[in-house]
Amino acid sequence: MKPASRLLFTAAAAVAAILLAGCETVPETGRRQLNFLSPDQELQMGITAFEQIKKEQKIADDPIKNAAIQRVGRRIAEAVGDDVEDAEWEFVLFEDDTPNAFALPGGKVGVHTGLFDVVESDDELAIVLGHEIAHVTASHGAERYSQSMLAALGGLALGTALSGEDESTRRLAMAAYGLGASVGVMLPYSRLNESEADEIGLIYAARAGYDPRAALSFWKRMKAVSEESGKPPEWLSTHPSDDTRIRRLEALMPRMLEIYEKARGEEPPA
Ligand SMILES: [Zn+2]
Repeated sequence: MKPASRLLFTAAAAVAAILLAGCETVPETGRRQLNFLSPDQELQMGITAFEQIKKEQKIADDPIKNAAIQRVGRRIAEAVGDDVEDAEWEFVLFEDDTPNAFALPGGKVGVHTGLFDVVESDDELAIVLGHEIAHVTASHGAERYSQSMLAALGGLALGTALSGEDESTRRLAMAAYGLGASVGVMLPYSRLNESEADEIGLIYAARAGYDPRAALSFWKRMKAVSEESGKPPEWLSTHPSDDTRIRRLEALMPRMLEIYEKARGEEPPA
């Protein structure tokens, strides 16, 4: 072997070892995922990032909206059961007109006040919070982090393999690799994460006794809102297009309605 290919082989062996050590199973879907972080590391990462966001963004003091995210968020977090270790659930309302919500590892969930311009009921809020909570239980943040670590390692290996080539070839190959690593590897995985969070989130919402059909009314309204404002084409966005998403949700509905009916049957009479 040439020295460069021997180095590449060594790097590939190291990557393979990491892949074997860093595999986890996503709850509810059973998908194998890359995750080098322990539940405690995820929690610490989430806490640090969330504290930073709370310092930088204005926390809203709307008592009604805040009560809604606490009420619905807690109820869904209870429906999660054993799907997550070491989560410290926290739901914070931020002053921001965009209809959005986000989740960080360890159970940190942020909701924008603007989300309430689109959400019309607790059932619809449960769809959004179920989705965000699913990102936490499915360790999607840690998965993306692990993927980017691996991508950096891959870039290092490529750089080593190309060390005998002339400067311009090397720069071109590294640039092409960089594009592939972000558009080719990172984005499709993230889109997979989005669809997975939709599915797992629906399971949680239904299990907590919220009507899963609210996902259809919510995403149809969201589609109308985003069409008014304009948005990037699907292939460069981390989110599936609204039509794709609505089609997938419709396909999930029979199974989700079963979970919902079962949860409602188990509820003590009011
Ligand atoms: Zn998401």
